[in-house]
Amino acid sequence: MTTSAPESILVVGAGIIGLSLAWHLQEQGARVTVLDRGIVGQGASWGNAGWVSPGLVTPLAEPGAWRHALKGLVDRDAPLSIPARLDPKLLRFLLRFSHNMTAARWLKTLTALQPLTHLAEQGFAELIAAGVHATLTPAPINLGFTSASAAQAYTTELAHLRHLGQDLSFTTTSDPNDTALFAPAIMHAVRVDGQSYIDPGAFVLALAQSVRDRGGQIVENCAVTDVQDDAVSASVLTAAGETMRADAVALATGAWLPRLSRRLGVKVGVQSGRGYSFTVDTARQPTGALYFPTQRVVGTPYRGALRIAGTMEFQHPDTPLNSRRANSVRNAVHPLMTGVDWSSMRDVWVGARPVTPDGLPLIGRTHSSRVFASGGHGMWGVVLGPVSGRLLAQQIMTGSAPDELTHFDPTRR
Ligand SMILES: Cc1cc2nc3c(=O)[nH]c(=O)nc-3n(C[C@H](O)[C@H](O)[C@H](O)COP(=O)(O)OP(=O)(O)OC[C@H]3O[C@@H](n4cnc5c(N)ncnc54)[C@H](O)[C@@H]3O)c2cc1C
Repeated sequence: MTTSAPESILVVGAGIIGLSLAWHLQEQGARVTVLDRGIVGQGASWGNAGWVSPGLVTPLAEPGAWRHALKGLVDRDAPLSIPARLDPKLLRFLLRFSHNMTAARWLKTLTALQPLTHLAEQGFAELIAAGVHATLTPAPINLGFTSASAAQAYTTELAHLRHLGQDLSFTTTSDPNDTALFAPAIMHAVRVDGQSYIDPGAFVLALAQSVRDRGGQIVENCAVTDVQDDAVSASVLTAAGETMRADAVALATGAWLPRLSRRLGVKVGVQSGRGYSFTVDTARQPTGALYFPTQRVVGTPYRGALRIAGTMEFQHPDTPLNSRRANSVRNAVHPLMTGVDWSSMRDVWVGARPVTPDGLPLIGRTHSSRVFASGGHGMWGVVLGPVSGRLLAQQIMTGSAPDELTHFDPTRR
């Protein structure tokens, strides 16, 4: 057991989770070195939709989600894509995931996440106030539906979420085509207020710069192949054969987390749920973010254009980008949007969401008192990144886990 606060810490993974943790460790007095097998933000933290929408953070395994799973097995263009040939790991994940698709388990997961979601916005405000050069843009999310029944069903869900303590307010809009880039096919719209978005790539770069400015080191193109610990220190072995030593190691390797953490008792399993995004030019900027719940596609204002994102593809994180999936996203919303120059489609990107079967992230100590993990934030790693970093840094530096992390023990079964 470590008895005093670690002075030096190696953080593996320079995504939003690893960098937020590194920043907060510095804040609490530690010397940090961040290692990434590629470059800063090369993983899921780059091309995602950038929503900072705590009010909408809900578990992925919801009652009835099996319908999407079945569709995903037979329809190659469905929002959820599952390979026809299941490997044993994916099968195990899907069985555990489906076990969580009950109303009772969904509620339990939502309740466990709420202490984090309630702190999420404050987590961004704190970083920005302390000099991380990034912008959090408050903006509504405009939801578009082609039928009254779909809009009504979603509104009922939002009302239920609010009743359960989610911080959100919403209104149905009388003229959906005025609020966003909605085509006339969108007959019903709902506006969710009180949410925000960031440019996620710019945010991780700013966070990395701040970590450097405060004396931290970030080593890119440095893949870690193993983690060890002993009575006095922890160490990582790199692909180049170098051993790097510190008082503690924190693993924040996103969808790749199981590779290094499994041996340390992290057995829950993290499945890569890949999503695609691309950028298009638009005739005008929408008043906020866009969401087509039936198609499960989102849009976010991005550098004067619009970033469109969607799909969940249960594939290995290193599988090459499949342009068919990006085109499926485009085709799903093409008839629902107006003022979009589809010929300008560019920056096609794929990133692996780190998805846990129980919908809870893994944040805390592994079986080693010197090795910690933070990952498995699934659809919500941006929203929950800064607050996860703050709470885990507190645990690493004080030796006791804050109450908010009670349900996220990485060694849970
Ligand atoms: C299309 C899409 C849209 C999304 N939209 C949103 C959204 O609007 N809001 C939201 O909150 N979330 C969203 N997400 C989810 C969010 O992007 C992720 O939850 C989050 O980025 C995960 O961050 P991370 O730091 O854990 O992982 P990553 O960003 O993947 O970082 C992990 C890092 O670890 C490095 N690494 C891996 N293995 C090693 C190794 N062995 N040695 C060294 N380095 C290693 C990788 O190179 C990578 O840089 C979206 C995701 C997708 C795909």
